[in-house]
Amino acid sequence: MTTHETGRLALAVLARGATLGTVPATRVAMRVAVIGGGASGLAAAWLLDQAHHVTLFEQRAALGGHVRTVGGNVPCPALAPGLRLDAGVIEFDRRTFTAFHAWMRALAVPCPTLVGGGSTSLLLADGRHLHAPVAIAMQRGGALEDAADTLRLIPTALRRRRFLAQTRAASSAALERVSVERFLSDDDFSTWMRSLLMYAYSMHYEQVAGIAAAMAVPMLRDFLERCEWTHMPDGVSTYVDRVRDSLRGQVVLDARVTGVSRTLASVSVERSGAGVERFDAVVIAVPPHRVLALLRDASEEEREWFGDYAGGEITTVLHTDTGPYERRAVKGFTEFDLFAFAQGGHGYNAYLNRLAGLSCAAPPHYSLAFDMGAEIDPSTVVHRQQHDVARYSAEALEKRASLLAANGARRTYWAGAYLGDGLHEGAVRSAMAVSERLGGRTLSAPATADHPR
Ligand SMILES: Cc1cc2nc3c(=O)[nH]c(=O)nc-3n(C[C@H](O)[C@H](O)[C@H](O)COP(=O)(O)OP(=O)(O)OC[C@H]3O[C@@H](n4cnc5c(N)ncnc54)[C@H](O)[C@@H]3O)c2cc1C
Repeated sequence: MTTHETGRLALAVLARGATLGTVPATRVAMRVAVIGGGASGLAAAWLLDQAHHVTLFEQRAALGGHVRTVGGNVPCPALAPGLRLDAGVIEFDRRTFTAFHAWMRALAVPCPTLVGGGSTSLLLADGRHLHAPVAIAMQRGGALEDAADTLRLIPTALRRRRFLAQTRAASSAALERVSVERFLSDDDFSTWMRSLLMYAYSMHYEQVAGIAAAMAVPMLRDFLERCEWTHMPDGVSTYVDRVRDSLRGQVVLDARVTGVSRTLASVSVERSGAGVERFDAVVIAVPPHRVLALLRDASEEEREWFGDYAGGEITTVLHTDTGPYERRAVKGFTEFDLFAFAQGGHGYNAYLNRLAGLSCAAPPHYSLAFDMGAEIDPSTVVHRQQHDVARYSAEALEKRASLLAANGARRTYWAGAYLGDGLHEGAVRSAMAVSERLGGRTLSAPATADHPR
């Protein structure tokens, strides 16, 4: 019997005595399948890789999930050679994304602070424009123009203070089971916050009202209080490549897992055309609304945890059209430009030049647009991306605590941004929790109020 087989046998014996088939924390190397090559699956694979035999399955042709660097992990012949533009995940908050930045330090991937990062403008349907202070500074208008922009912000600034006071006073229990609408109303500040949520979670504006307060409120509070945005000048897929190149384990691309079933002693992972492979444990890092379709033997609890998630495909567009600004006589562009349209509807346009270290003074001005509709001239479109995104309703998220408490039952571990803030920090923290349970690597990342360990 090989060492590997001995280890597996020892594990099976241990597991037989364990309730619910939980794998006891062990130093014995196991065969671990990680399903999903987005941020959470990559982090789980990397953290577990030294201690276990990891196989990472990703259904797409490239790793990264929502990380889509056009010219990087997303090939694009229309783009000049050497140019890399982020058309998915673009930036990270250094102050609150402590786990993510600890991981980047361990991978030796530089994440410089983005000068002017976090600035945002709200371009309203009635023609008014509201620019956050950093956006005002970056527009380089005259002193009079700046003063007018600042005065226009006063009602929103007062409403911001009320939102922060109200949400600070709300206990985390008060955020459970309610949607973010509990804290918003019918004013410009609320439109701004809903538009930021549309942006952060790539949800259509009309779906934002259903987002769980437990996820939305901490994110908005962070944004309003203390962000320091970082970026990757060569594209976010820089870190994806670094992980791929450093893994000892196997990465299987174009590998859509179609079924997972569990016994007390093993996990079977099924792929169409590739048969069934057996593992000692599985980390499921796919979007939460895709989980139940994967499980051949879902338990009552698992149906509870995942039954309320919904989601689907959205499209983002990488383009060079500055028309939406010219038509509104707006001079500067920010990474968080939010639009309400006179004919109805809302969208965002994220300016990419600053992120990619390109000149902001001269064209081409690259942006990433979502739900901007006819505002974008099709002849300026460089690339389109499809993303499978979950909707984070209060009903779905209220089951998270129970799922996290049972993480690892039936040899099944859960990872994903949805288990935290819905962003990269949540993805990495969920993987850290799995690694801790399976005896993998640890990262030293201080917990913050909104990201408890
Ligand atoms: C357009 C957009 C921009 C964003 N920008 C930011 C940002 O700037 N900063 C930030 O922190 N967050 C951002 N986010 C949020 C982002 O969702 C999270 O940060 C994080 O990338 C999610 O990682 P994940 O691993 O949880 O999920 P995903 O990235 O969704 O990864 C899941 C993976 O599982 C794979 N998969 C699914 N089913 C199967 C199957 N059956 N078999 C095999 N593989 C499967 C998928 O192909 C995918 O690769 C953005 C999201 C979107 C959509």
